[in-house]
Amino acid sequence: MAVYNYDVVVLGSGPAGEGAAMNAAKAGRKVAVVDNRPLVGGNCTHLGTIPSKALRHSVRQIMQFNTNPMFRQIGEPRWFSFPDVLKSAEKVIAKQVTSRTGYYARNRIDTYFGTASFADEQTVEVVCLNGVVEKLVAKQVVVATGSRPYRPADVDFTHPRIYDSDTILSLGHTPRRLIIYGAGVIGCEYASIFSGLGVLVDLIDNRDQLLSFLDSEISDALSYHLRNNNVLIRHNEEYERIEGVENGVVLHLKSGKKIKADALLWCNGRTGNTDQLGLENIGIAVNSRGQIQVDEHYRTEVSNIYAAGDVIGWPSLASAASDQGRSAAGSIVDNGSWRFVDDVPTGIYTIPEISSIGKTERELTQAKVPYEVGKAFFKGMARAQISVEPVGMLKILFHRETLEVLGVHCFGYQASEIVHIGQAIMNQKGEANSIKYFINTTFNYPTMAEAYRVAAFDGLNRLF
Ligand SMILES: Cc1cc2nc3c(=O)[nH]c(=O)nc-3n(C[C@H](O)[C@H](O)[C@H](O)COP(=O)(O)OP(=O)(O)OC[C@H]3O[C@@H](n4cnc5c(N)ncnc54)[C@H](O)[C@@H]3O)c2cc1C
Repeated sequence: MAVYNYDVVVLGSGPAGEGAAMNAAKAGRKVAVVDNRPLVGGNCTHLGTIPSKALRHSVRQIMQFNTNPMFRQIGEPRWFSFPDVLKSAEKVIAKQVTSRTGYYARNRIDTYFGTASFADEQTVEVVCLNGVVEKLVAKQVVVATGSRPYRPADVDFTHPRIYDSDTILSLGHTPRRLIIYGAGVIGCEYASIFSGLGVLVDLIDNRDQLLSFLDSEISDALSYHLRNNNVLIRHNEEYERIEGVENGVVLHLKSGKKIKADALLWCNGRTGNTDQLGLENIGIAVNSRGQIQVDEHYRTEVSNIYAAGDVIGWPSLASAASDQGRSAAGSIVDNGSWRFVDDVPTGIYTIPEISSIGKTERELTQAKVPYEVGKAFFKGMARAQISVEPVGMLKILFHRETLEVLGVHCFGYQASEIVHIGQAIMNQKGEANSIKYFINTTFNYPTMAEAYRVAAFDGLNRLF
């Protein structure tokens, strides 16, 4: 067994691991990264964010072709199969792996492919995919091993028609009817993707409102548009039993209902990838979801071991994971790049897309903050009309006395991009974070960003 010495060893090459490794390497540290699949990128690139977003993009293009009358000159509406649209996702994954492999090489970061576990606080053993065992001795270790779908013991995931959000990427046909169990972000995104392919979707929600952390108006809009696209949403339901049968799956609900479909996609919860890390050897405890607890510096209860990304829980987003990883390394190398990542925007790639930052109306009302609302509906905006993207709205919440922007909530075309303009203004200090910015600044025309100007006038006109 060869022994190698490093300043920092990072476990996992998803966004958190990459963020940590790059920051430590740029600060001159000798860094190694370990991942248990033969390519870098993590679950984010191979199973989560990237494939789902690429799938969604292809589905949106198909929907545009099928619904825009202009395309009837070149052909009738067509349905594409799931394996067909998956091909475009595979190409994006390959490109991402190439770019990210280059980052590690350029920054002289050693990569090991195999399963890592702690022998002691400074020693990581890697059982490499080729069977060789390597010993990496490190001053500091960053655990960025991510998460995987939670699989309850009473659901038979070996049945060929029962999938989770990882295995769905091996679906070799297009089901006519699909049950999606779990209506969180991943469940709602896949409901959009499959319904966009013409699949009849039953979306099973344990709660009484979709994505209840969102502004209620936006959550209502999502429900409306999913239903409009043939998604049957069933609220307040829980499974009694999931029965895989020869030609499909029968979902038995506690409410007494039975639903049959060609396949079931399980999207209910995730668990941290900590079970193979040998954390018991170094005295790091995990919670019931397999997550590691850290302090504001991303340090675990063992002082030279840090953790970032999905393995520490909230918000379980690639966007945050990358910054948390960078921040964990910032704590280690002390180069001023540490920050506690708590200003994370919501980006939800349903159809329509959703994005928000800051407070919701519900939160402001509860806190008795005197706020006002300004809205812009996309259907009236030139750029949305040109793009044939009439669905959507931007809503700005602002303090009616100080005019400070308190929240930005958006759904529709480009929502996840649009929100960043509001985020930039909200991050300003003093009068610079006033809603007046949007009427005192000339924006390109026609743009989706013009929604800020329209919403600002709408809101300011409500003041008296
Ligand atoms: C379907 C889906 C869609 C998503 N969409 C979005 C989105 O649109 N936007 C967004 O911001 N987020 C999205 N997410 C969440 C995002 O993918 C995760 O937050 C992100 O991947 C977390 O990054 P990470 O670096 O913590 O871990 P990961 O990306 O999970 O990477 C961890 C890596 O560590 C490896 N590993 C695990 N254990 C070991 C071990 N013992 N030894 C060596 N290697 C190990 C794993 O195999 C993996 O390669 C989505 C997730 C899913 C499932």
